[in-house]
Amino acid sequence: MATFDYDTEVRFSSAAPGYWSSLDVSPAQWADYRWQLKNRVQSLERIEEHLELSAEERSGVLLTGTKLASAVTPHYFNLIEADNPDCPVRRQIIPRVEETFEDPREMTDPCGEDSHMPVPGLVHRYPDRVLFLVTDRCASYCRYCTRSRVVSGAGEQQLETQWEAAFEYLENTPKVRDVLLSGGDPLLLSDARLERILSRLRSIKHIQFVRIGSRIPVFLPQRITSDLCDILKKYHPLFISIHCNHPRELTSEVREGLERLADAGIPLGNQSVLLKGVNDSVEVQRALVHKLLLCRVKPYYLYQCDLIKGSAHLRTSIKAGLEIIEGLRGHTTGYAIPQFVIDAPGGGGKIPLNPDYVVRSDERNTLLRNYEGKEFLYPEAQELEWSMM
Ligand SMILES: *Cc1c(COP(=O)(O)O)cnc(C)c1O
Repeated sequence: MATFDYDTEVRFSSAAPGYWSSLDVSPAQWADYRWQLKNRVQSLERIEEHLELSAEERSGVLLTGTKLASAVTPHYFNLIEADNPDCPVRRQIIPRVEETFEDPREMTDPCGEDSHMPVPGLVHRYPDRVLFLVTDRCASYCRYCTRSRVVSGAGEQQLETQWEAAFEYLENTPKVRDVLLSGGDPLLLSDARLERILSRLRSIKHIQFVRIGSRIPVFLPQRITSDLCDILKKYHPLFISIHCNHPRELTSEVREGLERLADAGIPLGNQSVLLKGVNDSVEVQRALVHKLLLCRVKPYYLYQCDLIKGSAHLRTSIKAGLEIIEGLRGHTTGYAIPQFVIDAPGGGGKIPLNPDYVVRSDERNTLLRNYEGKEFLYPEAQELEWSMM
């Protein structure tokens, strides 16, 4: 693998027009999200106009279309390094033949969502919050998609969100105080549709908190228009969780889009997935989390890769994630450190995993180690014997 240079990676730059430089594309077209969507790279022919594929990738493109469609926005496609077969962007977005490999431990619904839906399209797993699947489409398709059973429309299942029943469930379930819009990518919906969903949710008194999970700021930053921000900011408190895995994904266009969201008063978090050959080292993660803070995004979760079918080539050991957290904690800004989690196979929800800093503990003392490996004793509170005057 090529050496990773921190100073280069934390710098913001634009890759545009990149592979499109010899084509007749104006800056105004490039900056128009509709042009980006219309010109997504979706077929083998289109990919090969720009990139030389390996045999594994070529078969991947040809064989995975019935599992998860392939599509990449020109903006994101430009981040692929033509001459690097191990490019961390390439591994996330160009299908590989390994996606067709069968592993009996892998699943089509690894987080057990379908069995936790009181209404189709609404996952209610935790007591006070729900996951609302509002579309099955994304701007580009991550090859490790945990919801590939319904996302992109190419797989066996279809997302059949029951809109009216879902809103009625929310209206009639006062313990739900937090609604997470996801999909697919909610920011791919039109401004008008998003506004209808948000205003309906906001009409429900017990819903305190609304958030949107979206990879649009990374795949299609052109979609973060000032019109969109004007709509979103009417529905505060509204948070957005973006999904960024590698510092290279944070281009100058992405930073500008994130700044527009932050300026609209939207707190931003990042959910990244730990992926082999993409971001499974402390040095890549350190550059990623620093660059996120520069974009006013708080690293929120680092996910152990779900046991989704065909993802073995992208999964790391759990230990790799723990070592990354240990390599960050204490060594850098606390705000920069995500919580490492596993979404439990079969539907147990997110389980936090942390390096163990307790060396040993008894009733009287706890021996701790710090980030440098030095040990410190913390005495437990003792029952004090009061002598009253
Ligand atoms: C991740 C998730 C949530 C939100 O969990 P937080 O820990 O609050 O971010 C809610 N519902 C489902 C089904 C989820 O998978």
